[in-house]
Amino acid sequence: MIPLVDLKAQYADIKSEIGEAIEMVLDSGQFILGNEVAAFETEFASYCQASYAVALNSGTSALHLALLAANIGPGDEVITVPFTFIATVAAILYVGARAVFVDINPRSYTIDLDQLEAAITNRTKAIIPVHLYGQPADIDPIQDLAKRKGLVVIEDAAQAHGAEYKGRRVGSIGDIACFSFYPGKNLGAYGEGGAFVTNNNDYARAARMLRDWGQERKYHHVIKGYNYRMDGIQGAILRVKLRHLELWTEARRQNARYYNAMLEGSPVILPVEMPYARHVFHVYAVRTSHRNIVQQALDAQGIQTGIHYPIPVHLQKAYAETGYRLGDFPHAERAANEVLSLPMYAELSNEQIETVSAAIRGALNARTA
Ligand SMILES: *Cc1c(COP(=O)(O)O)cnc(C)c1O
Repeated sequence: MIPLVDLKAQYADIKSEIGEAIEMVLDSGQFILGNEVAAFETEFASYCQASYAVALNSGTSALHLALLAANIGPGDEVITVPFTFIATVAAILYVGARAVFVDINPRSYTIDLDQLEAAITNRTKAIIPVHLYGQPADIDPIQDLAKRKGLVVIEDAAQAHGAEYKGRRVGSIGDIACFSFYPGKNLGAYGEGGAFVTNNNDYARAARMLRDWGQERKYHHVIKGYNYRMDGIQGAILRVKLRHLELWTEARRQNARYYNAMLEGSPVILPVEMPYARHVFHVYAVRTSHRNIVQQALDAQGIQTGIHYPIPVHLQKAYAETGYRLGDFPHAERAANEVLSLPMYAELSNEQIETVSAAIRGALNARTA
């Protein structure tokens, strides 16, 4: 069996470090926020080359607080892509704003710059580029446009810990960046977790209050807040794992290169690392119009695959209120029908990559034979 993601293999390598970190929190009694979470915030901000990180209970909370910190609410429009995980769009609706979609660039799977400016109206307040699969969106032109129009840029970096744009880490480029530490993400907690990262002191201060019931100090509630705090145990675990992240990221990148070499010349379309990007391959997705055939053939050989994501958000039943229809975003719709995520994690071996690649070639050759 080759799984899509193997969290057990990673744990086996760091078991004793994790055990000690958890025990330290149990001994300290700091179960919510506390010293370990505060230390993680400092270390993660530094990893992102940013001034502040505010640790939260999920990436979705980070997106929600980013929109609140930027003062976005009813009557406002926020531009993002329909080819993303649902949380990007859910957060826009949480604050009562309208989600306006722009199609993706079919090579990078990130927001199409050529269509972005036309989507801006006098109600637009923010743009949320999504660094999908671990590849940054082309963020300089987005940032320039946002400056000209007075908009806030919120990076959805939930899949892109350590990714770089022209040598700069994501999280340091937009006004606010949102990270998820869901267990399967490149930096994953052993439970839920997220972070709000920014260089702006006012935004950081707002996020700190909003995550903890809008308190300025204990029981002094100056704004309406939420319970979005990170657990002490997750902070301690994330500190341990952050120390390994660069090695794991390099292993993912190496695995992506090996897949590329093994699949070159096959009928599937390979992922493209854009010239400006350090792609961190949260997901390694190939494309084929024969996805079902390939997926079934791999499944029969014990190879797990995934689809990120099979239905673009504008076609999700729960989000019909966004007011779009089939055909509105052809690149997103086509990608949703054709992408197939292959097993990807740091511990994946070359031999496993060879097995997966041979299975893909076999499935497509059998089809055309
Ligand atoms: C995982 C993810 C989120 C949400 O993060 P959670 O921690 O699961 O709430 C948001 N956006 C994208 C693109 C994601 O992949």
